[in-house]
Amino acid sequence: MLKLRYHHLLCLYYFKGYGYNKQFIGSMLNIKNRLDEDIIITSSFDDICNKCPNKVNECLFIEKVERYDNNLKKITKLKENKIYTYKELTNILNPIIKDENRCHISGDCEWSEYCK
Ligand code: SF4
Repeated sequence: MLKLRYHHLLCLYYFKGYGYNKQFIGSMLNIKNRLDEDIIITSSFDDICNKCPNKVNECLFIEKVERYDNNLKKITKLKENKIYTYKELTNILNPIIKDENRCHISGDCEWSEYCK
């Protein structure tokens, strides 16, 4: 089972092979290949954070990432600690992405230019 924080659903959806370092990118690719597993939603550290150089005692960008998580939680109404399939998640995410709401969720993210 994968554990993913809210806004990382967008990071995965748009992932094009860029990331903080080789280890992080390798981990993202690995997770992308595991999306047939059940996914539990969280707003704290997840399987992506586990290989991130910005994970110290807490995320170095805590203000931003909590804001992104809360924004996506509000828009999608996805329940924390509930288990979903990736298909269920993309059914919820697709209309949001089509409406180009992403800039309202995480528009000031440093990777934003890749999320098109
Ligand atoms: S920047 Fe923060 S939220 Fe994003 S993967 Fe790294 S530790 Fe997790």
